[in-house]
Amino acid sequence: MPVSLFISDLHLSDDTPDIEQGLYRFLEREKQVDRLFLLGDIFEAWIGDDDDSALAARFATVMARQASRGTRLYFMRGNRDFLVGQAYLARFGAELLSDRLCLEIAGEPTLLMHGDLLCTDDIDYLAFRELVHDTKWQTEMLAKPLAERRHLAHQLRSMSKEAASNKAEDIMDVNESAVLNELTAQGVSRLIHGHTHRPQRHALPIGERIVLGDWTKTGWCLREQGTRLTLEEFVL
Ligand code: MN
Repeated sequence: MPVSLFISDLHLSDDTPDIEQGLYRFLEREKQVDRLFLLGDIFEAWIGDDDDSALAARFATVMARQASRGTRLYFMRGNRDFLVGQAYLARFGAELLSDRLCLEIAGEPTLLMHGDLLCTDDIDYLAFRELVHDTKWQTEMLAKPLAERRHLAHQLRSMSKEAASNKAEDIMDVNESAVLNELTAQGVSRLIHGHTHRPQRHALPIGERIVLGDWTKTGWCLREQGTRLTLEEFVL
């Protein structure tokens, strides 16, 4: 029976060797996967597809091996790794997804998102998102030397951590009307997303919202096997 896996929010960086190794062991256990959906914030930061870091190289090598086992790979960008592009994904044959993808999962029309767009109460973040998704901003950023981009990414990360620590808990979660609006607009009854680090299956008046978990001491994945969907937590 075909198997699809959905993961997000690994936040890989040079500071997360255990999570990175946990991912590689996870893939060793999951050799018979038909589709692997990477739904954003796989990387804690992304400074451009020309990044010559050891992490970018190791990740590409492992994903290429997974692809050679017959797993189709799909990558949706998160709010951290929003600069990941076709050039990097081509190194391991992954398909770049846009911010929303509708497809049938376990027999139900389903919408896949990273989840940041659902946090509509976070006005500051949405303004920031608009800025960094601007083509001109991105072109200018990617034209800077790698060392400068690395420095800027580091600064952005500290700013974002500080902002998050000052925000009310409920602002950081999804807005319920935003969720229902998305489901209605896309004509689906199920939403799968990450981003909020609150793994859970929520029953909705018109279906279900499944939230993927972030990887820390444990990892999370959603598994589709036929019409079965299971949200799984495992030791890395
Ligand atoms: Mn995120």
